[in-house]
Amino acid sequence: YIEIRDVSKQFVNKKGTVFTGVTEIELTIEKGSFVSIVGPSGCGKSTLLTMISGLSGPTTGDVLIEGKSIRDVQNNMGFLFQKDVLFPWKTVLGNVESPLLFRGVDKSEANRRALEWIAKVGLKGFEHHYPHQLSGGMRKRVSMAQTFVYDPEVILMDEPFSALDVHTRNRMENELMEIWGGSGRTVVFVTHDLEEAIALSTHVVVFTKSPGRIKAVYEVDLPYPRNVAEIKFEPKFP
Ligand code: ATP
Ligand code: MG
Repeated sequence: YIEIRDVSKQFVNKKGTVFTGVTEIELTIEKGSFVSIVGPSGCGKSTLLTMISGLSGPTTGDVLIEGKSIRDVQNNMGFLFQKDVLFPWKTVLGNVESPLLFRGVDKSEANRRALEWIAKVGLKGFEHHYPHQLSGGMRKRVSMAQTFVYDPEVILMDEPFSALDVHTRNRMENELMEIWGGSGRTVVFVTHDLEEAIALSTHVVVFTKSPGRIKAVYEVDLPYPRNVAEIKFEPKFP
């Protein structure tokens, strides 16, 4: 479904110094799967996600969606960025409505769907707040509502839950499981947390530190539906 074929990405700064983003990535992501990408800071997770989205092209290699280069297709992907990119001048409601209005959904329908999603991410009562009036975790939840509200086929999430407290995090993880489960949607999920990856995913892709290569791809053999809070591995002390 999504094929990443021999993808490498280098960045060159003004002085001509070359930085490696990722190197020779080969990966197939099946439709409907939930793929987590884990690895240490700077290993290339965000770089790979950005290339899957088509927002930035690889230096060499190609990303194919159903056999066609991402460069040539109009894709319907939702991207939840590592840094939130909410409109500071819009309220929570305005932010969540915006992708719908942008796609030509009429105002009352956009309003209805946005309110539904704001409630789902646990922000009922904050509809008329502005981003600067919210905590980092709350802004993440607004971004999540903004990503899901237009029902994208492929959802790319870059460390969506890392700023949340454990309780909210478990709630959001279970919410995500519910949205994804049986929907046919494909999720590519970046996290630092191997346990979170195992608790959520069908497949876990492990990166090496540098120079941005895949070390291993694991299939997770746990039945769905999963209650993430219950699967969560307690740290064991001797
Ligand atoms: P983190 O977990 O900290 O978010 P990451 O795995 O997402 O890290 P990336 O942001 O993909 O890592 O970066 C991978 C490597 O690519 C980095 O080591 C960095 O040197 C390089 N890189 C990424 N973006 C740029 C850029 N715009 N200019 C130069 N180098 C870059
Ligand atoms: Mg990153």
